[in-house]
Amino acid sequence: MSRVREESKFLVTYKFRAYPTALQEYKLENWLYVLCWLYNFSLEERKSIWREEKRSVRYSEQQNNLPKLKKKEPILKTVHSQVLQDVLRRVDRAFGKFFQDLERKKKGERTKVGYPKKKPTAKYKSLTFPQVWMKQKGKLIPVIRLERKNNRFAYLILPKIGKLKIRFHRGIDWKKAKTVTVERDLVGKWWVCISVEVDLEQILKEAVERVERKSVGIDLGVKNLVTTSEKNFVEHPKFLQKLEKRLKREQKKFSRKEKGSENYEKQRKRVAKIHEKIKNARRDFLHKLSRYLVDRYELIVFENLNIPALVRDSRLAKLILDAGWGTLITFATYKAVMAGAKVVRVNPAYTTQDCSVCGYRVPKTLAERMHRCPNCGAELDRDYNASVNILKKGLTHLTGGRVGATRTYACGEGTGGATSREVVSQPSLKQETPCGSSGWEDSRQRALSLPEAPSVRAE
Ligand SMILES: [Zn+2]
Repeated sequence: MSRVREESKFLVTYKFRAYPTALQEYKLENWLYVLCWLYNFSLEERKSIWREEKRSVRYSEQQNNLPKLKKKEPILKTVHSQVLQDVLRRVDRAFGKFFQDLERKKKGERTKVGYPKKKPTAKYKSLTFPQVWMKQKGKLIPVIRLERKNNRFAYLILPKIGKLKIRFHRGIDWKKAKTVTVERDLVGKWWVCISVEVDLEQILKEAVERVERKSVGIDLGVKNLVTTSEKNFVEHPKFLQKLEKRLKREQKKFSRKEKGSENYEKQRKRVAKIHEKIKNARRDFLHKLSRYLVDRYELIVFENLNIPALVRDSRLAKLILDAGWGTLITFATYKAVMAGAKVVRVNPAYTTQDCSVCGYRVPKTLAERMHRCPNCGAELDRDYNASVNILKKGLTHLTGGRVGATRTYACGEGTGGATSREVVSQPSLKQETPCGSSGWEDSRQRALSLPEAPSVRAE
């Protein structure tokens, strides 16, 4: 056994619901029937040889006899040969267990010893492909392939069975997949169990990353509504932009109508309807976005923006209101309460200016989309840099101390609520030009796709 050498590696099995076609189901049922027959036949063979020749039959002997048996029983040829071999291994394991139990009983342990028994067809309900990959001339060749269909489904391409559709509810490292077992449950549903080799060290590493991933800082902006400290961003939704364009068009028409006329009233209603639609679509979108955040994170850090003050002072008042920053924070806050997550709001002072890597303060003009640090050389998207600062402030806020090696927050910067004057006096605050390019230099930044697109149609 090579157990010691691969101490940190072990097999984990993931189960997926399978949806065979009628033909595939027919084939699988037939295979199970044939495999059950083979199981019982091999069991019986071992028994009779022991009775008549007083010798044990080994797995290798039965495997070597398989071609001969196939000639005698051609129906075996309908089943993939590795699946047949796996049945012989099952028989071998059953005997192995029997002899082990026998040994333990001889030593005086209280164990039940059961001689391997034949199985009725109805109880034989799984078949195993023992190899997902095989080595050929030093190269790994797939015996079974995995093909993603979409977010929800994938196909397992099984030899002699074809493309078996499965509900792919979680990703797996297919390169590390070892075996595939197809089974039928008591109510006739089909399942696929995929065993995957995992490395304990890898798992621990991922667990630590997961904990870190549970906190997020969020920068609210105009071009990108949300930029997260994980380099995700959410644009100001397109469907709203579309509706807004339509609103503008209809408003123009409205202004041309003669006051008090029948058409005036008609157009007034039309405009009001679009207003209503936009309001609902925005709420719907913000609900989804806040749900997304709360489902993913345990700590969500926003800036404590004084929105009324910003709106009063900013040229971008309309855009700020449209973006729905305040609504997003409100939605996230009450959803978090119910989900046991936490929303923290921190002082927005200097979040845009400070370098999230080294803490150096880098003043920026409104149009500068990139954070370029002369101190440490960091070049980051402006909003991403801010979101990391926001997260750090949130963590300090929680722990009451410093986080990481960055010094800035220890320097007398309050993390509590900001007064409206403080907020407005920050020159770089939230006044990004909406037309400026976002200049994503790092390809790892990616747009978030929310679980479902809001169901709004622009007629
Ligand atoms: Zn720096």
